[in-house]
Amino acid sequence: MGIQVKTVIVSDFEQNARLVIDQASQQCMIIDPGANTDHLFELSDPYDVTMIVLTHCHIDHAGGVKHLRQLFKEHGKKEPSVLYHSQEIIIGEYIETIALQYGLSPTRYQNAPSPDEILDNKDVIELGDSRFKCLFTPGHSPGHVALYYENDDFLLEGKHADDKQCNHLLIAGDTLFYGSIGRTDLPMGNHEQLLESIRTQLLVLPEDTVVCSGHGPNTTIRHEKLTNPFLEVPD
Ligand SMILES: [Zn+2]
Repeated sequence: MGIQVKTVIVSDFEQNARLVIDQASQQCMIIDPGANTDHLFELSDPYDVTMIVLTHCHIDHAGGVKHLRQLFKEHGKKEPSVLYHSQEIIIGEYIETIALQYGLSPTRYQNAPSPDEILDNKDVIELGDSRFKCLFTPGHSPGHVALYYENDDFLLEGKHADDKQCNHLLIAGDTLFYGSIGRTDLPMGNHEQLLESIRTQLLVLPEDTVVCSGHGPNTTIRHEKLTNPFLEVPD
């Protein structure tokens, strides 16, 4: 049966939030709900939302989690569990401060709730019958994770629905982008660590893996290996 991946662009930072649905069980996980929570809640209404998974806790990825959970509560639905890496907790506690610094509303962007489950030692996330490998990819932020889906039975919908005729799928967060990589000038960013994560965790994936990034269009592991200027090995 496989999975559906619906992408919605959210927040002032044009972040790609995603609903991932296991088609057999109709279980759903919401990835990186940075804002636009009413819309995400509405889209997720037909499904059994069991989890909110954060690749990391920057404002544009995690600023909507608290409000989204509140919507489930207000509508008498079970609140989904929140999963992210423990090294992101400190970053999620500063979202409201960062919002004010950017001149944005700290009621629109709220601090991330504490995780119900940490991803530190979790190799696999299960959603119904579907399995996602949880890859530890620090650098853009200290506890960043990416999710890898090995099978070819996925369907992309919404924004960036181009599957690039690939047979595997990566939810990359802010590690790897079409022609670029994540920024590392934010607090707790580390450029060398990011390059190491990309090399050891992402470029080792099959070349026909579609990369669904946190911002902008999809790309593939093959395309980035061949053309990404940030990944060139110095002579
Ligand atoms: Zn980020």
